[in-house]
Amino acid sequence: MAPAAATDAQARRDDLVAFFHELEDCAKCPLAEGRTTVVFGSGDPDADLMFVGEAPGFHEDKQGKPFVGQAGKMLDKLLAEIGRTRREVFIANVLKCRPPGNRDPQPAEIEACEGHLFRQVELIRPRVICSLGNFATKLLSGRPEGITKVRGVPQLREIGGRTLFLYPIFHPAAALYTPAMLERLREDIRALPELLAQPLPGDPPEPEPEPEPELAAVGAPEAPAVDQLGLF
Ligand code: URA
Repeated sequence: MAPAAATDAQARRDDLVAFFHELEDCAKCPLAEGRTTVVFGSGDPDADLMFVGEAPGFHEDKQGKPFVGQAGKMLDKLLAEIGRTRREVFIANVLKCRPPGNRDPQPAEIEACEGHLFRQVELIRPRVICSLGNFATKLLSGRPEGITKVRGVPQLREIGGRTLFLYPIFHPAAALYTPAMLERLREDIRALPELLAQPLPGDPPEPEPEPEPELAAVGAPEAPAVDQLGLF
């Protein structure tokens, strides 16, 4: 990494840590009253890939970390299949506090909390955000289409001040007991390395390729004729 980029990444990392401490006693919505911990999110503050789930559940609330239950184990397993660990990505949720009894997030709670997620995206600057399931997908796409309709198709979106790929996929909790959904989720996650390599509008221009050294006219190997390859 060039020194300027390293300094910039360090500054964003420091800002993210400061933001984590700022949210520790967030009381923007009534979920603050019933929570054990604010589940800020975890992973690499400079990750190119971010996952956004719905809200902390029982175990996440107790441990203060996202996706530590069965769904999280599934996510870890699928990430391992593409050679990644959760330390190399950033995992967060639409809501940072557990809704009572793991009920669905309510519109007022999402509205109170969404600024936190957008600020995280602004600081982390991922190239790809995987929205897990309906709540994250609808919030981040700004559109009403549900996950079954839009899964597996990247959308170019401006989120947190930058253009990136929003990539909606099934929520691992939904896939836990439905093998067909798990296969779709696995397929979608397997497509991630290719998506991460795609250029984005804000990317710096590619450096000019080095010119190929010219083959000397004498001694250059002759390309074999097609029929010599034994194909016909
Ligand atoms: N489900 C979520 O959406 N988020 C978590 O952190 C855990 C389970």
